[in-house]
Amino acid sequence: MAHKEIARVIQPVFQDPYSSLNPRKSIFKIISLPLRAQGLAGGNGRLEQKVDQIMEIVGLPPRLKHNYPNQLSGGQRQRVAVARALIMRPEVVLCDEPTSALDVSVQAQILNMLLDLRAEFNLTYLFISHDLAVVEHIATHVAVMYLGRIVEEGRARDLFEHPSHPYTRALLDSVLTPEPQLGLPEVRLGIEYPNPIDPPSGCAFHPRCARCQARCRKEAPQPKVRAGKLVECHYPGDC
Ligand code: SF4
Repeated sequence: MAHKEIARVIQPVFQDPYSSLNPRKSIFKIISLPLRAQGLAGGNGRLEQKVDQIMEIVGLPPRLKHNYPNQLSGGQRQRVAVARALIMRPEVVLCDEPTSALDVSVQAQILNMLLDLRAEFNLTYLFISHDLAVVEHIATHVAVMYLGRIVEEGRARDLFEHPSHPYTRALLDSVLTPEPQLGLPEVRLGIEYPNPIDPPSGCAFHPRCARCQARCRKEAPQPKVRAGKLVECHYPGDC
């Protein structure tokens, strides 16, 4: 697929709305950029109408289009980033940690907006996140990656309720609770972190795996079906 065609199908929302919006461009210029780049702007009046419409959809007053990013809050900036992505009416939106740079209260607003927009525009999100609470809230399907490989993949509910790969289990165990007296969770991963450029032999997770056996050090596991998910592990289980 040519670059222009890809841009019409997939649009990104980046992690940090403080650096992903050009500070020298007005909100109007930023939001309308994908249409102008694709030669789909139409006349000036038509373009302004499209920008106003998408700003209202993401909860921004159209009058803000004359402002610059530094005049907006973090949440407003991320709404601008979402508007910029959606003005192309894409099928897929690549969301790269879209809430991690925001305050917790604003995070919830942006997540709920993304959920509403998904339903309204029949969107598919490819949502990248380290925050498992966010993933559980938004995802229907989850792929867990370790050193650049998908080690477990399946429906979100299956994965959260019955993790099969030891790394998925450790990630779920590492979630902090609101009880300060419980301290940091013990996930038994050790302190060793392998070099991604020169990953360990066999299963790349083996130096950190509490269930590692001799075979794991020599032989890389192949994906296998386990409880409706794909799991890369010699000894998967409901761990
Ligand atoms: S293959 Fe072995 S080392 Fe790798 S995750 Fe499974 S049990 Fe652990």
